[in-house]
Amino acid sequence: MIYLLGVYTSFRLKLPGRATTREYDVIVVGLGPAGLTAAMYSARYSLKTLAIGETLGGQLSMAGLVDDYPGFIEIQASDLVAKFKAHAEKHGVEIVVDRVDNIRKLEDQQMFEVITRRGHSYLSRAVVLAMGLKRRKLGAVGENEFAGRGVSYCTVCDVPFFKNKRIIIVGGGNSGVTGALHAAAYVSKMYLVTRGDRFRAFPVYVERLMSLKNERPDFIDIIFNSTVTEIGGRETVEYAVITNLKTGEKRKIEVDGVFVEIGNEPPTDFFKKIGLEVDERGLIAVKPGGYTNIEGIFAAGDCAGGSNKYYFQQIITSAAEGAAAADAVFKWITQKGFKIIGHQR
Ligand code: NAD
Repeated sequence: MIYLLGVYTSFRLKLPGRATTREYDVIVVGLGPAGLTAAMYSARYSLKTLAIGETLGGQLSMAGLVDDYPGFIEIQASDLVAKFKAHAEKHGVEIVVDRVDNIRKLEDQQMFEVITRRGHSYLSRAVVLAMGLKRRKLGAVGENEFAGRGVSYCTVCDVPFFKNKRIIIVGGGNSGVTGALHAAAYVSKMYLVTRGDRFRAFPVYVERLMSLKNERPDFIDIIFNSTVTEIGGRETVEYAVITNLKTGEKRKIEVDGVFVEIGNEPPTDFFKKIGLEVDERGLIAVKPGGYTNIEGIFAAGDCAGGSNKYYFQQIITSAAEGAAAADAVFKWITQKGFKIIGHQR
């Protein structure tokens, strides 16, 4: 923070070891529905807005058909993402695909510095965090080594590559069970492994799964009270070890893929690192409008929590929180009397 003092004289500057720094009114972190909507609304308020995210579309980038976003009776998730992006850009949002590694307050200038993995540094008055959730890992031996080589965290996205192969799906919630229903159209043999002694998915999905099991009993093995503890092979996955959590019994089976569908978790360590207050779920504690404990940092979408949050995590609710956060940012910047950089539309 200190080294910038007195050096920061122009619109662009060069920091030691970093690429060019640029200044914005608002930086949004996240390119999912919450982030792209926050950025679009922010730019509509004529605030110069940058949206940075690791994955364009966020969780939507891994989804198939969307049939619950008003105005689109059915739309492919990739097409919806393209529309969110085009809409934000139409209002003047700059979009950068990169990972944000740190955010720090430059107290003397009342600005935030947003630092990315690719070595870029961006400055802004306000930051909206719309960082969503990341996939939870199993913690199995070999899991990291075989990620992308047979270990997948998105059945819908990757199972078409496993045509006539043998797979394990781990997870007894909605994503595990719907993943299994989806995979049935592709694979030759499937094991569905879950820690519990029953499924946690919606009854309609469980019923469909059980009728599939009745129709093709040898095609799908359902294994309760168990998890995958080891994944191995040479170049790609060749086997996995399933451990019964009650008896400790281990079973090694030959498979070509392991699909991990055990839920999501927020990047709580990142939030704590930058000094944000988190709730008991590890989500950023926000007040209505996305206000956090750090003045100038707002949060929206799946990564935002706190006691005021109504948990219904959908594209529309994430987008709505993004819009509200952009409105709160505009009001905050105006109340503070900050000079707005603005942008050309
Ligand atoms: P998201 O998870 O979709 O987006 C998070 C964004 O933050 C991503 O772009 C990700 O790359 C980015 N990010 C995370 N950490 C980062 C970092 N350190 N640096 C840079 N970028 C980082 O989250 P969201 O926008 O809050 O909401 C998605 C909503 O959409 C969820 O509520 C979900 O339930 C819903 N959804 C619905 C469907 C459906 O079919 N109806 C499908 C997918 C998602």
